[in-house]
Amino acid sequence: MTPLRQARQLIEEACRRAGREASCVRILAVSKRQPVEKIVDLSAQGQDDFGENYVQELAAKMTALEGRGLRWHLIGHLQKNKIKLVSGRCALIHSVDSLALAEALNRRAGERGLTEKILLQVNVGEEITKEGFSPEKLRQDAALIFALPHLEIQGLMTMPPLQNDAEQNRPFFRRLRELAAELRARHSTARHPLRELSMGTSHDFVVAVEEGATLVRLGTVLFGERAG
Ligand SMILES: *Cc1c(COP(=O)(O)O)cnc(C)c1O
Repeated sequence: MTPLRQARQLIEEACRRAGREASCVRILAVSKRQPVEKIVDLSAQGQDDFGENYVQELAAKMTALEGRGLRWHLIGHLQKNKIKLVSGRCALIHSVDSLALAEALNRRAGERGLTEKILLQVNVGEEITKEGFSPEKLRQDAALIFALPHLEIQGLMTMPPLQNDAEQNRPFFRRLRELAAELRARHSTARHPLRELSMGTSHDFVVAVEEGATLVRLGTVLFGERAG
């Protein structure tokens, strides 16, 4: 069985255990520091969604693989001075981690007459070194962000503290799901469906799916170890 089929099967089993529809979970293939040939190979197996961390690498791969119908996601930190490289070119930007960045993306999308689909990144572990809104800061800024006219807020993303045991990340995934439900009750509109939960990587995606992930970000299980 291919790694992609195997991951899909584990997702289906996790959905069955959790009483969820497996069709609600998408795999995002994280192709950072992987060669273009491996992306082409995976896309030939039916994988359409690819995620990259570094803006320059993302832009280069989008250009190199143009016309193949791939959907690109940015999952790493976005500096405001690099917005022009990704604006309007991503299926989804997962890593919107501040009000200032949301405002800058909104401004650029408005200038270009488009709507940017985004997720808000939450630092559910409240780690000092990690990007993302603290849950409290997100509650504070939510009304301002949801009022930005050129953004479509599709949901939340998190990258919990790396732990040896995937089970240890379960409370963080649960916290993201609960925060999304809370925001949905307060701010959700037709324009901001807030239905996506981007959570879970190669080592903990099964637990993330059990806790409600709709997008799992898989790198090494699909591609093998990264270069460099
Ligand atoms: C690298 C990365 C992943 C994929 O990690 P793997 O352990 O290779 O599955 C997922 N999400 C983010 C934000 C990453 O940086």
